[in-house]
Amino acid sequence: MRAVTFNVSIPGYLIGKGLGGVTESALFGGLSGVRYGEVAEPSLPADDWVKLDIVAAGVCGTDVSTLTFNSSPSMEPFGSFPAILGHEILARVAEVGPGVRRVEVGQRVAVDPFISCTMRGFTGAERCSSCASGLHCTCGRAGDTGALRLSGEPFQRGTIVGYHAGLPGGWGERTIAHESHLFAVDDGLSNHTAALIEPLSIGMHAALNVQPFGDGPVLVIGSGPIALGTIWSLRAAGYRGELLAQVKRAHEATLAKSFGASAIVSPGAEARSALLDTGAKGYKPIIGAEVYAGGGFPLIFDCVGNAASLDQCLRYATPRARIVVLGCAPEIPKLDLSFLWARELDVKGFVGYGLENWRGQRRHTFEITHDLLVESRAPVEDMVTHSFALADYRKALSAAANHRKSGAVKVLLEPAG
Ligand SMILES: [Zn+2]
Ligand SMILES: [Zn+2]
Repeated sequence: MRAVTFNVSIPGYLIGKGLGGVTESALFGGLSGVRYGEVAEPSLPADDWVKLDIVAAGVCGTDVSTLTFNSSPSMEPFGSFPAILGHEILARVAEVGPGVRRVEVGQRVAVDPFISCTMRGFTGAERCSSCASGLHCTCGRAGDTGALRLSGEPFQRGTIVGYHAGLPGGWGERTIAHESHLFAVDDGLSNHTAALIEPLSIGMHAALNVQPFGDGPVLVIGSGPIALGTIWSLRAAGYRGELLAQVKRAHEATLAKSFGASAIVSPGAEARSALLDTGAKGYKPIIGAEVYAGGGFPLIFDCVGNAASLDQCLRYATPRARIVVLGCAPEIPKLDLSFLWARELDVKGFVGYGLENWRGQRRHTFEITHDLLVESRAPVEDMVTHSFALADYRKALSAAANHRKSGAVKVLLEPAG
């Protein structure tokens, strides 16, 4: 089968650190780790596994920073390479092992890509505490070799499909999955909508776990799919208060509005004026940037995760505000944490999803996102601005990496399309 693979290298990391921005040469040059070509097809490793034909797979912001070696090497021990990329996966069931009960051949399914102890072949007391509680996105055994064998090889370390040497990601024609990681998709959802279940579930997991929401106003910082998905999730999960979206470009503002933002600001002066509207007063320190007191936002979602966005969260927060970090915040060299202490702030990160309390039941975030997509009929697929055949992966990566120029919000590869 054909697939896009990626390998990490020390020269890659060193070059990535030296580059100011994302360039074509970082993605495709001689030292790039990206390759496209024929790879071995995976076989079913156990009776309760399923073979899948990939329908669509998204390009995540994490993929772009990994491919350009702009991610933190601190996550490297929890992945294995070379890996077939892609963790936002919509697929069709092609073959089921004799023990599979959850899905049938021909069904469309969303794939939970985080690797669980169950997938690694661990049972009973061998399973980590995260997996035992249904939150395998923080699996404690991601750095270990699993007990199961994949195509005759040891099950390598890894956190998530797409950064795992033995489990192909979605940027290929086929993959395999344990049945417990598959969630059937309603026929009423389009491929583009269903391909968003994974990224939308990040915001949904955060929204479900910060409840009660309080009275607001809520501030969501970020222009990408995670920020837009968080806005949709907050509304779908029942938040009715004021919801301010801070985005950069007009088409992102349109999307934010259609997903439920009550007001839009751009970063800088507009955001500051919205802060002052909450009753905050600005003060100018003897040197450095303006600080505030007397107002602010009690709940802020940082869906960017860089020095500027975290700095803004700390300055814009009310006392005892909750700051929710949904963008990876790697290696921030200089960040003033004074207000973390002076405002008794609560900072919380979310990396994935898992079992949630929902309407009196324990349900996986994917099921909740799926059902709310069916119920709300929100136009989330408008977020998909670009889609490409697998062979056009270079165009897809360029569009995603240069989103300021291309206007990309979510880019999909459609291997079956
Ligand atoms: Zn992602
Ligand atoms: Zn585990």
